[in-house]
Amino acid sequence: MYRKSWIFVIAAALWLTAAAFSSNNLSTAPSAQAAGQAANSGQAAAFNQTITPGRPITPINSVTSPTKLADPAKPAVPSKTVYLTFDDGPSKLTASVLSILDRYQIKATFFVLGQQAQRSPELIRQIADAGHTIGNHSYDHDYDKLYHNFSDFWGQIKQTEEILRSITGKRPQLIRAPGGTFGHFDQTYFDLLAQAGYKVFDWDVDSGDSERKGVPAAEILKKATDTGGQDQIVLLMHDGSGHDNTVKALPQIIEYYKDKGYTFSALGPDTKPVQFPISKHLPQGRPAPSSTWIANHITMNAALFDRNLLPLEISAGGVQTALDPGEYEVENGKLYVPLRALVERLGGTADWDSANRQAKVTWGYGQLLLLPGSGTVVRGGFGIVGVNGQIEPNPPNTPNGQNGREGVEGLVAGGPEEGASIRMIDDSIWISLRSLLDGLGHPVLKVAKTDKQWEVKAS
Ligand SMILES: [Zn+2]
Repeated sequence: MYRKSWIFVIAAALWLTAAAFSSNNLSTAPSAQAAGQAANSGQAAAFNQTITPGRPITPINSVTSPTKLADPAKPAVPSKTVYLTFDDGPSKLTASVLSILDRYQIKATFFVLGQQAQRSPELIRQIADAGHTIGNHSYDHDYDKLYHNFSDFWGQIKQTEEILRSITGKRPQLIRAPGGTFGHFDQTYFDLLAQAGYKVFDWDVDSGDSERKGVPAAEILKKATDTGGQDQIVLLMHDGSGHDNTVKALPQIIEYYKDKGYTFSALGPDTKPVQFPISKHLPQGRPAPSSTWIANHITMNAALFDRNLLPLEISAGGVQTALDPGEYEVENGKLYVPLRALVERLGGTADWDSANRQAKVTWGYGQLLLLPGSGTVVRGGFGIVGVNGQIEPNPPNTPNGQNGREGVEGLVAGGPEEGASIRMIDDSIWISLRSLLDGLGHPVLKVAKTDKQWEVKAS
């Protein structure tokens, strides 16, 4: 219905690199894999819902920041520490676990499933609000999907990460492989997850609560406290449905470790990871990710968790939002943002029209049509009428009329800023922030970089 109002062709200049163009523009249409993910998540495939990390970039701080911030002093780990971990939740048992932990005033770690988090976001909020650590345990725990090839595992991690980020505002950096890494992870899984900034945790002690259905509480207690004399213990338990006996055994497990002088702690990115060795009997024939795939997905991801990089604060149209390091790119002095993620955080919509291979953005009175195949941005909006290619000047008081860039013939030649405005990274459209905001009728007024953040202010 807005088609007729798309009139101003801005900046048809192409910037796509040959590689990005040839390998990615076809994938703008939902691929089989993306379509499968979309079917699972109920989301359009063409814009990745997750923020897809992009190509390798120059680290933001490397040029202008002379020194990196010093790491805060790491607190010393008490000599005897037990890390209680709960997998497969949240479920209706999680509230009971939380109240027991609260009663003892101790912190623990919950490796949750994205699917369960979607069903019970309020439990995720309760876990986070109580100060426990939330880790990523995949979306659906399906071994066949997760351990068939790395890209499927990765897809579930990122899908779950986005679900958790939308609930808590924080990305989980810790991962526990469903079933543990042994017999599942090869070196590629370990290497790529580490390169992407994640910390993988197996366990030292298994409570045995998932060995079969209905393991008695006494048996769980016995196994959960069979430490072999270790001082640092990551203890595996489950708070998924059916593990009522774990909840029953939990107070006694806690009492046991208290009596033995252990301190209770939640896992964190600085905790020394516990990882099983790689099995010699792994599934054969797993495809290795290509270097292009790794460049598109893995390389920049670690910036999401780099505490020395800066967030990007954006205020426009009376709305404030932020992108974390790794959610945006800086290249040649330009800030690039993932179109859909940013527009949605601003409160707008971005829809992919797969038949016409174009993206439509609506925010307030502003509208943009993006044709990634040709690198074209078409601007529409309030007060602008275009019929059958006829272009009428903007009314003087509309946002688009104010900046006066449209020219007599209604075509705005791409200035240096617009000339490189759209890029495809994997299946996602990225756009220069200035092009996006200007195009939507919110001209950028200020761009500044402080010690703490990038700041972009638009009208
Ligand atoms: Zn599990």
